[in-house]
Amino acid sequence: MGKLFAWSESHRHPKTKRSCTKHSKFFTIFPKVNRRTRRSLYLMFRNSHKNHAGKTIPLTVGLPKALLLFSLPLCVFLILSACAQPQEPTEPLTPPPAISADIDIIPQTETHDHTASGAEPTPPDEIYEIAGTSPGVTGQAWQNMTDWRRQSVQYAAQHRGRLYINANTSTGLIYLTFDDGPGSQNTPQIINILKEYNIAATFFCTGKSMEAHPEIIKQIAGNGFAIGLHGWDHKRFTAMSETELIHQIEQSNELLHSLTGRFTTITRPPYGDINETVIETLAAQNQKVFLWSIDTMDWAQKDPQDVLRNIQDNLRPGDIILMHCGDGQPLTARILPDIIQYIRDQGYLFGQL
Ligand SMILES: [Zn+2]
Repeated sequence: MGKLFAWSESHRHPKTKRSCTKHSKFFTIFPKVNRRTRRSLYLMFRNSHKNHAGKTIPLTVGLPKALLLFSLPLCVFLILSACAQPQEPTEPLTPPPAISADIDIIPQTETHDHTASGAEPTPPDEIYEIAGTSPGVTGQAWQNMTDWRRQSVQYAAQHRGRLYINANTSTGLIYLTFDDGPGSQNTPQIINILKEYNIAATFFCTGKSMEAHPEIIKQIAGNGFAIGLHGWDHKRFTAMSETELIHQIEQSNELLHSLTGRFTTITRPPYGDINETVIETLAAQNQKVFLWSIDTMDWAQKDPQDVLRNIQDNLRPGDIILMHCGDGQPLTARILPDIIQYIRDQGYLFGQL
């Protein structure tokens, strides 16, 4: 230290040529930097004390000023570096994102990997078992349904990206879907409820119903809901020839386009009736097949609380929920507000396919 002080005390101020304690203290603080850097630092230090040149300045005054001067460019550099960092695309896992009334309806391109422009959807990371019961379905009918569910999950595993039971499980979205519409009574009621709660939903409509109620299809599309195909006349797809199935898809999609200006690339076979040929044929027609992971069984229920209970007992992130909006099921519109409220209370957002 004695050496350093001896050296620094010999330093003279560049203008006054007098020994300058202020500058010597500077060189005491930065003894080991090279000559050029030391000169730069010194000039910065000196410039911060111009008014005091030649006078002794206490280190307690000069040092904080100098540190402030040196730290400013460092801070700017760090902030710019942080901003320039590429952001990792992160998907929320659990818990699902909190509800905000303003973002209940997410633009279609963000709710799901599937878009009407034909972008490839990402297959879900996990395929759920299909859930939902009804006191009205027992015995052989229930056994047949259980067999169909097991077979459909297997198909979905074999045809990832073409056939969906549920959507991506990591997004925290729930997908309400309504089949068999539009109906003259139930569908407008359901649209009003969805609008009132400001949530997204998907309607799978038959060609015949679209033809019978073009104004309601326009209302569905005009309110930003997604529309998928559901055959022309609700006939089983596996009972059709390949030619007839292609014709039904084309005919329904042409009608949809003439009414809304848009084609769709999503289809739900009536009754969820599929086999290898149907899946291949629909894929060749650029149609993704969306079944469901919760069947509310609204078509078989007598008590609307049983429709809600199927959701309460089974709700999982990414669930696709099957309901109906044809005129045969007035029960659905009655319980829909409770369903929406329950799903919201669990912290989920609503997406559309
Ligand atoms: Zn149907």
